[in-house]
Amino acid sequence: MHCTEINGTKIYYEVRPSRRARRLGLTVYAGGRLVVTVPARSKDNPEAFLKRHAGWVLVSLRRQSGKKQLPGGVKDYKQNRPLAHRLVSERIRHFNTFYKFTVGNVTIRNTRSRWGSCSRKGNLSFSYKLVHLSPELSDYIIVHELCHLSEFNHSAAFWQLVAKTIPRYKELRHSLRSFIH
Ligand SMILES: [Zn+2]
Repeated sequence: MHCTEINGTKIYYEVRPSRRARRLGLTVYAGGRLVVTVPARSKDNPEAFLKRHAGWVLVSLRRQSGKKQLPGGVKDYKQNRPLAHRLVSERIRHFNTFYKFTVGNVTIRNTRSRWGSCSRKGNLSFSYKLVHLSPELSDYIIVHELCHLSEFNHSAAFWQLVAKTIPRYKELRHSLRSFIH
């Protein structure tokens, strides 16, 4: 671990030599881990490089430090997809005893940026990573998509519908932002 100072803030970083890299690179991982990738035979100074990009580094570190990285990858997907399907099906059945909407097909995907979606035809799709969230959060996502079957928008009427089974939806919606897929 290396350490440097930017604008009076101590910045810790790792230097990772890379045979594939052609030039210096910077990555900020969830949790705030900062890695400088250096081409194997490079004579460039990682610290000078870091300082040249100080603005970006500070912003990224701030943005990532509060975020929680969820597990992922193909193996994780294969392992958890059946679980996710069972969870989603059961919770849709549960909440739909209240809503009584007509639900089309339900699919589980390895989506990159979305937790769930609802098509015009009434099909619902969810990220398998729901299984990595707390029951409260996954319920919120499931109810959110379920309610789009009735309100295909984010109007006040839509949120009222969500609130009928998830009164804490505002809080949950907010805390979802601290997860990255
Ligand atoms: Zn929505």
